[in-house]
Formats: sequence, structure tokens, C-alpha cells
Amino acid sequence: MKYRKLGDTGLTVSEIGFGTIPILQGSVPVLPEYFNLDEETALAVMERGFSLGCNLYDTAIVPEYGDAEIKLGKFARLVGRERIVISDKARFYDGGEMYKAVEASCENLGTFADIYFVHQVDGEHEDEVFQKGGALDALEELKKEGKIRFAGIASHYYDILLRGAKDARVDVLQGSGNLLERGMLDRMREEEAFRKKGFLVNKVYAAGLLPGRFPVRTLIGGVLSYPVSSVLIGLGTMEQVGAAMGWEAGGGKECAAACGACREEREGERMEPPSFEEVLSVLEKEYRPIPCDRCQRCRCPYGTEIHTIFRQYQYFFLGKDYWALKKLGLGIRESAARCRSCLRMPCLDMCPKKIRIPDEMQRVEKLVKDHSGMGQAWRAACMEVF
Ligand code: SF4
Ligand code: SF4
Repeated sequence: MKYRKLGDTGLTVSEIGFGTIPILQGSVPVLPEYFNLDEETALAVMERGFSLGCNLYDTAIVPEYGDAEIKLGKFARLVGRERIVISDKARFYDGGEMYKAVEASCENLGTFADIYFVHQVDGEHEDEVFQKGGALDALEELKKEGKIRFAGIASHYYDILLRGAKDARVDVLQGSGNLLERGMLDRMREEEAFRKKGFLVNKVYAAGLLPGRFPVRTLIGGVLSYPVSSVLIGLGTMEQVGAAMGWEAGGGKECAAACGACREEREGERMEPPSFEEVLSVLEKEYRPIPCDRCQRCRCPYGTEIHTIFRQYQYFFLGKDYWALKKLGLGIRESAARCRSCLRMPCLDMCPKKIRIPDEMQRVEKLVKDHSGMGQAWRAACMEVF
């Protein structure tokens, strides 16, 4: 395992961090993929990561990640609190609510959190988080009281992360990125404001869709080629821990080169990740991908979140068909209709990939129309099983 500085915090973290979603027990409808591990197994899986050099463990408040926070607290006592870095988060935007959330987290953990994130900050809540008396002010106060050590912003949106990067109260940022959705990482690399902050990356496997199409070491090594502090990988089995953390220990020689795109890693050198075009060419064997890297430079004045729609399109073909259709069904008809009546089409000039955005919107709408019975069929199949 290799280690990196966490921005200007003075902490050093393992390049691969342990995401605790898969070890949780509890009813978490938005997180369908976890393994329902009992406490003993969960602790053993976390311990396996520790034995391979992991010192960064990321969780979220109960019940957002089920009981993962409680299990992590027990693990911290088992291995020694000072030997791991705990990253925690809660989806509260008001200062008072965030303050109470952190106190609850500390109780669940039985200790303090090293980093505490305002989780999933979006455009709707951004100003509330950053304004006086908002969640960031609460984290600042909690730092002074010694209840947390560092404050963070976690978001899927580049502009919000950039705002966090420019805010002195923020020490660490958490965003998403992988070899397909790398536009945000490309932009971050060029932006000086990010240099002093720690940066943790999640969704490196794209919700589990990219392993199998690309070797794990290519996915992880590719994201680590960016100036980030650590990649967070959700881990629920010994095998997953070994696959994510073992390749560094083993020198990465086991590369299956499934994509044929990654360059051989030479002893002591970083792997050069496949280019975006090479990644697309692997996916083209399965479907016609939209060449969107989610850079988020496009803006629709009518409110269509273009990059999110294109993401659901990709995820439909990569295996999350039911979930993608469900999300697309919420607004694609309206979005596609707006594109048909849009005269100026300003989004076209904003896209560096020169994607014919309005045309692609029609294609996504057709996809949803063609599969509109799928959700019902899926539900019917479930009813038969039960
Ligand atoms: S073409 Fe569509 S996505 Fe682009 S600006 Fe117009 S309505 Fe928005
Ligand atoms: S459509 Fe173009 S500008 Fe918009 S996120 Fe995708 S690549 Fe970036």
C-alpha cells in the first residue's frame, strides 16, 4: 500500500480507502447492494483491509449507512483508534441539525471523527450549507471543540466542490470519478484551488459496473493517476478487499488486461491509464455509448441536468437497467420536448466533446419509450418470486 498526504491536514492516508456501505446491516432502500454482514464478519473484513495497509475508513451516520458507523467504532477500538483515520458524513445542511448529527455520530462511533463531511451537497442546498449559521459553520465550531478534526464537503457537482476548495473552513473534499466519468477529475487537475485540500474519490467502480470490463488495478490506478488523496472502494468480502488492495502489494503483475487498453506497469512505475477514447472503444463492443465524460461544463437554461441523463443512459446498458429507467422516467419526456423547441441550443457550444446534446436527448427518450414496460415486468417477476 502506498500513502498520500491529505491536503494540508497533516494526515497521511492510504491510497485505497475502505468504504463501509457493503458491511452494513439495516434497511437502506437507496443502497441496494450490501452484504448484510454480521458484526464479527464485518470486523474481520475491515481487519483484512487494515492488514493490507489501509488506514482510511469512510462511513456515514446511522441510519444512512445502516449500522456501519457503529461497526466502524468497534473496529477502531479493536485496532487502536490512533491507527486509523475515520471519515464520516451526514446529509444535514442547517447548522443546528449538523451539530446534532455530529454529536450522534460521535456517540455511535464511541470516538471522534477525523473528517466530517456535509454529504451530497447539491444546488438546492448549497447556499444553506455555505451561509452563516449553515452546516459548514457548525463543523467549524465542532473542530474548535475537538469533536471532529477536519471539515469536508461531499458532492457530485464540480462547481460545489470548487466552492468548497476556495472556502477556508473546508479541509477535505469528496467527489465522484472513474475512467468513464473522469471529466470532473480532469478539471480538478487543472484548478489550483484544489491543491491545498484533501480529495477523496468515490464511485471508482461506477456502482460496480466497470469491474469485469476493466481490471480493478486499471480502474483504481487510473483514478490514482490524478492528484487525489485516496480512492474509496466499497468492500464487503475478503475477495473484494484482496482485489482492491492486494494488487499494489503484489506489484500489479496479475493484470488480466481484459480491456487490452492499459499499458504494462513496470516495476516501481505508475500505470498509465487508458484514454477516454480507449475506454469508449471497450464499451462500444456492447452498445453505442454517449461520449460524455461528465465534465459538467454544459448548462441548460431550462434546467435539464444533461450529464445526469447521459449517465443514466450509460448505466442502462452497463447493467443498471431497472434503476436507470426509473430515474430517466422522472423527466426525460419533458427534457427531450424542451430540446425540440429550443432555438438557440446554447449547450452545444459548451460541450468540449462536441456531443449533439439535443439529438442524444431524443435517443434517450426513445430508449425509455421502448422499454417503458420493463419496470412493470420487473415488478411482476418479483411478485412471482415472492
Ligand atoms: S438544446 Fe436542450 S439541453 Fe440544450 S440548452 Fe436547449 S433545452 Fe437545454
Ligand atoms: S455533455 Fe459535454 S459538456 Fe456536458 S457533461 Fe457531457 S461531455 Fe461535459
